[in-house]
Amino acid sequence: MTQTKTLSLEEQIKKLALEEGAVLVGICSAESIKNNEFSDPNYLFPGAKSVISIAINFDDEKVRKYLSKEEYLPLCYEEGYTTKNLKRIAEKIKAFLEEKGFGAHNCDCNYDYRNINKASKAVVSTIKILIDLINKDKDEDINLTDQEEKTLIRLKKLILPGLKKTPMHLIPSLSHRCVAVSAGIGRIGWSGNLITEKYGARVLLNSIITDAKLKPDNPLESNPCVKCKICEKSCQGGLFSGDEEQTITIAGVEETIAKRNNYAYCIAVCSSMSGQNKFKEWSTWSPFRFNDIERLPLDDSVDTYVKNMFAKGIENGGEQAENVLRLIENTFLGRNDKRAEDFRPSCGFCQMVCSGQYLNKTKENYKMIVNSGCIE
Ligand code: SF4
Ligand code: SF4
Repeated sequence: MTQTKTLSLEEQIKKLALEEGAVLVGICSAESIKNNEFSDPNYLFPGAKSVISIAINFDDEKVRKYLSKEEYLPLCYEEGYTTKNLKRIAEKIKAFLEEKGFGAHNCDCNYDYRNINKASKAVVSTIKILIDLINKDKDEDINLTDQEEKTLIRLKKLILPGLKKTPMHLIPSLSHRCVAVSAGIGRIGWSGNLITEKYGARVLLNSIITDAKLKPDNPLESNPCVKCKICEKSCQGGLFSGDEEQTITIAGVEETIAKRNNYAYCIAVCSSMSGQNKFKEWSTWSPFRFNDIERLPLDDSVDTYVKNMFAKGIENGGEQAENVLRLIENTFLGRNDKRAEDFRPSCGFCQMVCSGQYLNKTKENYKMIVNSGCIE
């Protein structure tokens, strides 16, 4: 007679995650990551005892076409559908835990910050009205009514100075990377991205927080980052250093990563405000460039420069204003309610280039970037 092995709660959770489409799943204790303000799970779910980390990889062929600039939209949709999938799988795990009598919380995959006031949602619709009026005002065939002119002046005064106060250092409600390190999904690479053994940095993450006390997994013993620093050469922004390093500790694991520069360097490029900064022979997928300088300032004035870019982008109207609006929408509203087809990354090259311990692949990916030319 064959005996059916009874699966432990942890095994059942992992089985469910994998059956639903996650490619990696691990568990950590809430205690192991609660020391950092950006990874204490009690912020989102008081009484947290464990956190489950799930990951889905990007499709290699779609990434190849994205990096070589053969095709843009497939990777955009991939990011959208994968994000939705991670939310769906997390919801299944949450429901499973609740059925067993535990509490659980399905986190947002990304764009969920502690220092962004979500109550300011109204600001997004007001910016839409402002952009609409700016576009009308720039159209030679349209005359604004007196009322519209007054509204335009009022909204410019109200919105544009506020944009110059945008925080550059955003603190996530829960750092999925910290959860993933502690749960044995991957380790932190030179770029600061999570690097997995099988997929390098090409994964998206989500986490489920629960009050169930689950048996945690161990962090990976060795770091799949081979310190090739190709991520740094693939970063138009200049967010991280090629030679200076810093040490961070996550769940007792010491990681040596690149020293971080001002976040404004990434925000300017990753948000599509510019497709070029450090390197002129290739660009990201963004067609925009800095209007009045060749590259971002190399000192602290970069912060103010980038904040001013948001206001300028809105004032320019058209596609540039739409671009700023997309960033603001993502930051204030998150991406939960956004259609998968509406995701529009334009960079992420530090992540997409990295195949982790498969150095030859990373080198090939880098060649694709530098030979991909510029989006005009
Ligand atoms: S590209 Fe190289 S250095 Fe950068 S994170 Fe990946 S493996 Fe590490
Ligand atoms: S997303 Fe782009 S700009 Fe930002 S750090 Fe990565 S490569 Fe640099």
